[in-house]
Amino acid sequence: MNPKREAALQIMKRLEEAGFESYLVGGCVRDFVLKRPPQDYDVATNALPHKVQSLFPRTVPTGIKHGTVTVIHQGIPIEVTTFRTESDYEDYRHPSHVEFVSSLEQDLSRRDFTMNAMAQDRQGKLYDYYGGLQDIQAKRIRTVGSPFDRFEEDPLRMVRAARFAAQLQFALDPKVKEAMAKLNDKCIHLSVERVVAELEKVWASPATSRGIALLYECGLINYLPPFAAWQVQTPTQAQIGKFDQIPDRIGCWAYLVYLCTGGKKDIQHHLRQLRLANHDVKAIKACYQLALDWPYSLTEDEGKKLLLRHGLETGLRAVQLARILDKPLSASLEQDLTSWWNEMPAKSLKDLAISGQDLIQYQQQPAGPWIKKTLEYLLEKVALGNIPNQKECLLKEGCKVGAEYS
Ligand code: ATP
Ligand code: MG
Repeated sequence: MNPKREAALQIMKRLEEAGFESYLVGGCVRDFVLKRPPQDYDVATNALPHKVQSLFPRTVPTGIKHGTVTVIHQGIPIEVTTFRTESDYEDYRHPSHVEFVSSLEQDLSRRDFTMNAMAQDRQGKLYDYYGGLQDIQAKRIRTVGSPFDRFEEDPLRMVRAARFAAQLQFALDPKVKEAMAKLNDKCIHLSVERVVAELEKVWASPATSRGIALLYECGLINYLPPFAAWQVQTPTQAQIGKFDQIPDRIGCWAYLVYLCTGGKKDIQHHLRQLRLANHDVKAIKACYQLALDWPYSLTEDEGKKLLLRHGLETGLRAVQLARILDKPLSASLEQDLTSWWNEMPAKSLKDLAISGQDLIQYQQQPAGPWIKKTLEYLLEKVALGNIPNQKECLLKEGCKVGAEYS
């Protein structure tokens, strides 16, 4: 059995032995029915948070105010949440008021979609008060109760609906879609982090374009932070369809920024607003700018210099985006880049047969910026096959430019 599921079941056993009810709830039950591997296992219980803390030796009070305690069982963290209802999403981000309740049915009623509002006990019995099973069988996304009320309470649910449509290839119930088109402006209050987290799941989905199409069709994108401030252009269906050809999240971010900004040259400011990790911002920017400026034709030497600067991964990613942007490129470009990369006897400074120390000793010069510049000059010569990667040879060649750079 999956070790995470096993950990959740062990935790449930302990809770039951102490006289409490406990169930698997939410995404893991949906995924069990769908026979998909779940992201995480969530447990719901009628034990109050401090009771949960007292029953297990290792716990973390992750969201204790909202009733969530993370129990660490044999190194595996499982979130255990006390049955609760929530109300008054004052800031459109967190419920301002959480009330612990005694019944599973009430707890399930606060959940977003019927497919996410099912529970399962330790024996595998399903608890489905809101027709989740039927909706899963019909591949339909339906809210628990009126979508107008549920989206008003928490507009992120509209973005989640689009995400699940992409992830599970399910259709939106017509009322859900109608509510999204009507309440799209409520999205303006969402936090960038929550929006970005849902989009990351859209990038990892089998039907990415379906999710993005819904964001445009229902007008959510015009109100979603940070895109709302970007003078969003409306792409064609064919342009949106191309998301499905992009294999990785960096490429998807780059293409979305392209579509939303109408292909603006400088996107540093936009990328910063997404609040992604610095290495992601760098990778997206490199892919975007290379794709936009991809040269009409590329000689072998130019190709190798480009690869030295950006690496093969970024190079191939940029070509992929350039193709999606309908740039005229040679059919063999990916193959050419890959063989040029493999041919290069040195691909980075650490592959050179000399170090900065060797240069300092040989040239009897104090350390300075000239070292990096000289090494880069030598790397290009070696990579392009103009000089061999041999110590003596590199030291001599280095002298030609060392003085110039110092
Ligand atoms: P994933 O497979 O991506 O983890 P998930 O359905 O498990 O999807 P989570 O964000 O892990 O989504 O949330 C766990 C459960 O909590 C959901 O299945 C749902 O029951 C409930 N839930 C999460 N977010 C909301 C929300 N914004 N409104 C109502 N219920 C929610
Ligand atoms: Mg989950």
